[in-house]
Amino acid sequence: MIVGPAQPAPLVLARMSEPAQPLTDQAFIALHARCLRLLRQLAHAHEALAVIVPGTGTIALESIVVSLLDPDRPVLVISAGWWGDTWRDICRTCGYAADCITVGIGDNLDLAQLDAVLSEKPYQAVLVTHVESSTGLLTDVRAIAEIARRHGALCLVDGVAALGAETVDFSTWGIDAYMASPQKAIAAPAGLALTLLSHGALLALANRSWHSRSYSLDLARWVPVMHAVEEGRFGYFQTPAGSLLTGLSAALELIVREGTKERVERHRQLRRRLHAGLAEIGIRSVVDDESRQANGITVCWTPDERNASRLVSMLERIGVLVQVGTHPKVAETSFRIGHLGNVSSCDIDTTLDALCQIRRHG
Ligand SMILES: *Cc1c(COP(=O)(O)O)cnc(C)c1O
Repeated sequence: MIVGPAQPAPLVLARMSEPAQPLTDQAFIALHARCLRLLRQLAHAHEALAVIVPGTGTIALESIVVSLLDPDRPVLVISAGWWGDTWRDICRTCGYAADCITVGIGDNLDLAQLDAVLSEKPYQAVLVTHVESSTGLLTDVRAIAEIARRHGALCLVDGVAALGAETVDFSTWGIDAYMASPQKAIAAPAGLALTLLSHGALLALANRSWHSRSYSLDLARWVPVMHAVEEGRFGYFQTPAGSLLTGLSAALELIVREGTKERVERHRQLRRRLHAGLAEIGIRSVVDDESRQANGITVCWTPDERNASRLVSMLERIGVLVQVGTHPKVAETSFRIGHLGNVSSCDIDTTLDALCQIRRHG
């Protein structure tokens, strides 16, 4: 019951044991193309360019910054916790002037405030986290994308903890870039950076009047490779992670077979079951508002302000693996439950039983 890496399905692991193929092999190019197509399908990003490269979610976030953003223009980060702060720090480390709107724990972003802040400076982009895994907050990306667009700013979204468990409607919401990694709600092995780019983002990449400060993370160098793959041709910038693509393709096929809508609904039901059980035991979720609770991650206050590490080790002794909090302000008094990927309602019940035992017997 951790927030990742999620346990891949046996079929995913089995497929990964197949021998490596030469990069120029038609079968390998077709496998890569299938991953690109399925990723678009999962995010309802039918006109977007999908970019799948070796890396992690963090690398995907940094890549988008150094590839798409002009180092001489300010950016606005919305941070509701650890991952929002990470994105702000990535920008600042790479030399960008990044202002930050900080959302308090369990609070909602004030959209009027966002609108006002965007009027103050010509921000080139708004950077937002779809699901903040340090609090379990689901952010209204659609509303933020709309406000960003009105101010002529790009909307870039960290969807690492969301894609595969939440509704993502890339094209309709008007998102410019959406980043994910395989080991969370997609339940494939870690090691890939997944990015979706809108037509607007591709134009911005093609028309840069500045030089990217990174060579290996520059998405502009990957664009022709992804186009080649889509057309069934070989393209090279860096060696693709072959077995990881095989695993990702199997995991995405399982998702599509389940149905993208059905999968989100399954996670919503798991979340409801968990929250109903937690309420019965008297354990509170950090996010009160049901409409803002993430489907795949729940962060709770420890009962009786108990120390989180102690609670987590007690649960582990019973056989349930959860994690201590990561939000810098509440790490000691919160713990995280992951219900991503292949977690079942039975797993939810086992977790609730374990928590119940601890509450009853101290
Ligand atoms: C896990 C996570 C990341 C980082 O992903 P890595 O693949 O570990 O780099 C980024 N953002 C969010 C919201 C996450 O939950």
